[in-house]
Amino acid sequence: MSQLTRADWQAMSERLQLEGRAFINGDYVSAVGGDTFASINPANGMPLALIAGCDEQDAALAVAHARAAFRRGDWSRCAPAERKRTLLKLARLMEQHQEELALLETLDMGKPIGDSLHVDLPSAINCIGWNAEAIDKVYGEVAPTDRHSLGLITREPLGVVAAIVPWNFPLMMSCWKIAPALAAGNSVILKPSEKSPLSAIRLAALAREAGVPDGVFQVLPGFGHTVGKALALHNDVDCLAFTGSTRVGKQLTQYAGQSNLKRTFMECGGKSANIICADAGNLDTIAREAAMAIYYNQGEVCIAGSRLLVENSIKDELVERIIAYAEQLQPGDPLDPATRMGAIVDAAQLDTICGYVAKGVDEGARLRMGGEPVLTDSGGHYFPPTLFDGVNNRHTIAREEIFGPVLSVIGFDTLDEAIEIANDSPYGLAAAVWTRDLDKALTASRRLESGQVYVNNYAGGDMTVPFGGVKQSGNGRDKSLHSLSEYSQLKTTWIALHGN
Ligand code: NAD
Repeated sequence: MSQLTRADWQAMSERLQLEGRAFINGDYVSAVGGDTFASINPANGMPLALIAGCDEQDAALAVAHARAAFRRGDWSRCAPAERKRTLLKLARLMEQHQEELALLETLDMGKPIGDSLHVDLPSAINCIGWNAEAIDKVYGEVAPTDRHSLGLITREPLGVVAAIVPWNFPLMMSCWKIAPALAAGNSVILKPSEKSPLSAIRLAALAREAGVPDGVFQVLPGFGHTVGKALALHNDVDCLAFTGSTRVGKQLTQYAGQSNLKRTFMECGGKSANIICADAGNLDTIAREAAMAIYYNQGEVCIAGSRLLVENSIKDELVERIIAYAEQLQPGDPLDPATRMGAIVDAAQLDTICGYVAKGVDEGARLRMGGEPVLTDSGGHYFPPTLFDGVNNRHTIAREEIFGPVLSVIGFDTLDEAIEIANDSPYGLAAAVWTRDLDKALTASRRLESGQVYVNNYAGGDMTVPFGGVKQSGNGRDKSLHSLSEYSQLKTTWIALHGN
């Protein structure tokens, strides 16, 4: 555990030299058009740094360098063991700079420094190391042909991969894409969210120091409708790996169709159901886990357990315990290591959350806790844990992704009913079921329309298992060996054998 105090982090943030330029072909450069925009600290509303506002000119330049690097072959065609060594070095460098990277994350998007340092950074570093370690253990296949032929099935990198990512776990979401994409031998262009570009920009220098060749890893900060759109429409980008909202995911799929039919992997939004059966066990434990399932990271989590489905016989008791626990999670200064809920990413997101709370009240749900912004004198954006009871699955707050600390509690009488409610959603990212009955748990797991199902936990998992959604939550899979396959394509080589 880090021994750094709030004063230490504050002092460190004052010493930081923030880089805001794009990273193209091995160097930091201003946007071709000269545009910049300010990144804002959501904790106090103060500007942090000027960021390059890249557009289609920068996209064109970066894609040309990415393609040239891919053709050059010093990364795309080098031995996998060599890519492994370089990426392991990158993981080590990230480890050496983990406090700085964690600080960038917290300053940029408002999450508590303890979470940045103890959750986001270890996970991002592990992702780079894990994919590095995996890549020299991936084999091709020999087809079961007749004796006059030899059929080789090999995996090749795709070419130029554009990764477009959100702001809620900036470095972690970036690494989930770039680690397998780089390990597989692609040239990668990372477009971080305009709300959280700092850690991605810093990562570029570490990749250069680790020995990733020029043009193989580039970072283009800027807005979605400018540089993001340009990458998505570019005819020389082979793959678009996206994490973000369903609305933008749909748009990107259209861009792929309008241009070169590039491969697209979409990791989109969710409205996940956390189902608590009456036989689930210790209510204090479940209350704590159900609270963290929605309030962790200020509720800005794609798999947030935002719909809590509770068997009616224990609902009132559980709601009281969740409220008692969540009262201790009041938002505070993200740089204070004791803070468990930080700032909401920006004013627009805070307005969105407030709008949903107002709608919840209007549509007849019972507001039991929170509901109003707090710490308004700070100049930052803070919203407390908020809970609605008596929610109906038709209410807007039960249907739409709020992306804030707002929990909707829905009662049920039978597991069948709970599964029906859970599946009655356009999304299918995550679901959980809590019961001591194995039969009920596995039946629910089979029937829940969701990319991942947690049994007697929420949000468990590690690098060994895939992560992704079904329905309008997307179609890609991050993490595990399966994600390596997403960034490569199969090649068949058919050899005629003329011997006997
Ligand atoms: P967003 O869709 O607004 O933006 C995501 C990224 O897309 C950003 O980099 C943005 O600049 C870019 N973008 C926006 N418009 C674009 C366009 N027209 N063309 C190209 N790029 C464009 O999402 P957000 O607000 O940054 O993130 C929150 C969303 O991300 C939530 O819906 C959340 O559920 C989702 N998310 C999903 C996962 C997952 O693994 N499924 C993980 C984290 C977040």
